[in-house]
Amino acid sequence: MPGTKLLIARVDLSEQIASRLRAEQLTAVMRLFWAGTLSSFCNSLVFLFSSIEEDAFLAVLTWAIVVWSLLGLIALRQWRRRSISQRGPSNSRRGVQHLIFYAIALGVAWAALPFLFFAHASLGGRLLIACLTTGMLGGGVFMLASVPAAAVAFSGPIAIGALFVLLRVGDTQHVLIAVVLIGYLAVLLLGAFNYEKELKTLIATQIASEQKASASAKNLGAMADVTAALAHELSQPLSAATAHVQTAERLSRVPAEERSLPIEVPLRDAVTQLDNLRQVIAHLRNSIEGRLPEKQLLHLHKVIRSVLETNQHRCEQLNIEIEASLTAQNDAVVANPVQMRQLFSNLISNAFDAMENSAERRLTISSSAVEDNAIRIDVADSGVGISPAVKTKLFEPLVTTKAQGLGVGLSIIHSIVKEHRGQIWIEPNPGGGAVFALILPVTSLDERDEAV
Ligand code: ADP
Repeated sequence: MPGTKLLIARVDLSEQIASRLRAEQLTAVMRLFWAGTLSSFCNSLVFLFSSIEEDAFLAVLTWAIVVWSLLGLIALRQWRRRSISQRGPSNSRRGVQHLIFYAIALGVAWAALPFLFFAHASLGGRLLIACLTTGMLGGGVFMLASVPAAAVAFSGPIAIGALFVLLRVGDTQHVLIAVVLIGYLAVLLLGAFNYEKELKTLIATQIASEQKASASAKNLGAMADVTAALAHELSQPLSAATAHVQTAERLSRVPAEERSLPIEVPLRDAVTQLDNLRQVIAHLRNSIEGRLPEKQLLHLHKVIRSVLETNQHRCEQLNIEIEASLTAQNDAVVANPVQMRQLFSNLISNAFDAMENSAERRLTISSSAVEDNAIRIDVADSGVGISPAVKTKLFEPLVTTKAQGLGVGLSIIHSIVKEHRGQIWIEPNPGGGAVFALILPVTSLDERDEAV
């Protein structure tokens, strides 16, 4: 369902933006964190010193200790947070929540100041609290600008405390100061919200360009895979056709009566290979256009024999002994003929490669019935055996131990077998070498006569 896919992608994107935004917001706050903590500490210290001679000194000291404890707690949390290396989305969400909590606690502590000490203050005292408040508001909102919720949590209580003292007097002058204070805070918070909005847009743009870059990197990777598979599939019939034409050319230089075989034989084989090539290309075109490979009823033994025949030339060159024991009673499968050829061509060609340097060169292909509904084919060689380095990832693409290898043959085989609801695995050959065993479902005995 394409609609569902799209929805999931959108949810992911907005969560991605939100998570990156939180991380950026926290980083921005943390850049000013120590300066903000220090200024809060100095402000409380100045207030404490200015009240040394006053009766309320002990109360001020108690208040200052509360503020310092809060600052200490925040600093400790911050220090611990820095030592945690993992900064996942849940971590940044918790970080923002803690920040808001501490902002409100600190805001309330500062808001208590006018209530506790300036409720009945003189004009000078009220002006002092107005100045102190504007300073705290400016500094606090500046530090927390990237997290507007924390800026509101911190500045809200402080503004309420200051307004309480100023409006208590009730004369025009103090009401005016209160109005200016509200306007000042509104401008500060507006700036904070705008800053957050810009940050969000910036992050969304950044994520979009990152996704674009990673999509084109993936496309390039996919293109490399397709090119490798293409080169692999075309090279086998092409080199076989070349070999047959070379044989025909050699024969043409020998008088007709001395030829080891009629010149028509290699020429016919070359035509067969070129026809295979045409079929592989047609098949590739179908897959690129998204068409499912057409399946038909066919005899697997016939496919194997035909592949062995087309590999005859290389077999003779390498002096390989072939033993085909195709004895399964039912070999009729519903399969795509090109893919079946590809499957056995790849297995046989790999077996030949593996035996190139072996003293004994024997390829055994056998078939047997698996209950009533499947056929098992074993392709066993006496080659070098599977290298332990690639054993566990043999069917993955681009895995090869050969200098000229592309490492796509077995991954293609694996997907063909899967597409035909079969299984494939490897076993060591008891006498040395490897056995590729595969099982494919067969049709019912009544239908098999229709197979080609
Ligand atoms: P390529 O033949 O291009 O290397 P494949 O996917 O066909 O790609 O094979 C991957 C690897 O599997 C080979 O490089 C080889 O190491 C190993 N392999 C495949 N078939 C055999 C075999 N019959 N005997 C030993 N090793 C094999």
